[in-house]
Amino acid sequence: GAWEKQLRHSAVPRRPNGMSVLVTGAAGFVGAHCSLALKKRGDGVLGLDNFNDYYDPSLKRARQDLLSKHQILIIKGDINDTPLLTKLFDVVSFTHVLHLAAQAGVRYAMQNPQSYVASNIAGFVNLLEVSKNANPQPAIVWASSSSVYGLNTENPFSEVHRTDQPASLYAATKKAGEEIAHTYNHIYGLSLTGLRFFTVYGPWGRPDMAYFFFTKDIIQGKTINVYQTQEEKQVARDFTYIDDIVKGCLGALDTAEKSTGSGGKKRGPAQLRVYNLGNTSPVPVGKLVAILEGLLNLKAKKHVIKMPRNGDVPYTHANVSLAYKDFGYKPTTDLATGLRKFVKWYVGYYGVHLGVKRENHHGDSA
Ligand code: NAD
Repeated sequence: GAWEKQLRHSAVPRRPNGMSVLVTGAAGFVGAHCSLALKKRGDGVLGLDNFNDYYDPSLKRARQDLLSKHQILIIKGDINDTPLLTKLFDVVSFTHVLHLAAQAGVRYAMQNPQSYVASNIAGFVNLLEVSKNANPQPAIVWASSSSVYGLNTENPFSEVHRTDQPASLYAATKKAGEEIAHTYNHIYGLSLTGLRFFTVYGPWGRPDMAYFFFTKDIIQGKTINVYQTQEEKQVARDFTYIDDIVKGCLGALDTAEKSTGSGGKKRGPAQLRVYNLGNTSPVPVGKLVAILEGLLNLKAKKHVIKMPRNGDVPYTHANVSLAYKDFGYKPTTDLATGLRKFVKWYVGYYGVHLGVKRENHHGDSA
């Protein structure tokens, strides 16, 4: 019917030998950016997202509007919906899946632990089940997380370091995803590539992340809580700009080998890879605030708390030499440059007039 036609139109590549990619979490921060980048170079993209309200769903709908301007369709649905996923794979022969749908966030796991199990474990398994039964079997690239390094203090983190001390349920479910991927690779010959993202930020970002709500609160004159240990340098993040992450995701897709199984009947060696995607240059949280103050030309009201937040890993630092070797991943955006782009987007999106009170603009025709 019309639905299937629309679906194919979105998912069929417009360049020779292009990919046909199912992007889960396409209305999310990273998913929206990756979908646009794939479409722009001529690949076919079909998005899937359940538009949950973990953070303001109007931001997800705005990303969807942006994608639809580029002829990218996002189906509203859940990765746990087996009939829906099966139907999508029946209509479109996806060559690749970029699996980004997940319950993100470290703190929320203490409020709603089951949502992490449902999306990051059960949902991932469901996607793998449907993928292993699909013909052809797609190559899968999925989002893991730097949080799998947990309380490990060997820095910078490299892929061979231990990941058996998660500091949050979120981290534990991401770690479980890596183990689950191993079994589907081993038994069914699925090609699987896990990407351990390090604190991704940028335009269209996530309102639940510190750089985002610090910006909001500084503009609104609200006090921000800054978590630091005694030695302020100990709390730092390897903030990674979204465009660098997008390049990493596309590089991983481009170098993914085909799955070797066939509907679970044949087995054979297939690719199983895990990579760090970070910026290789950790920045203390105090420095993050100082950069924002400079960009906004406003002084933050800070409440300094001398301990790391529950569930947080105090210090993250990526070694990305493996991703560089295998697909040329090289982050190029420093935090000040990336935050300038974020703030520019934020101010435009929310209609903030820096230095001028928003109330002054109520008479505008818009
Ligand atoms: P996001 O929350 O903006 O995007 C995830 C999207 O998935 C959301 O739009 C959500 O509605 C959707 N979703 C959630 N559960 C779903 C389900 N069961 N079925 C269908 N859709 C569902 O997060 P993001 O920052 O874009 O993160 C993308 C991926 O990268 C996630 O897997 C996240 O865990 C991982 N990651 C992100 C970061 C970061 O700093 N942003 C760091 C490490 C890992």
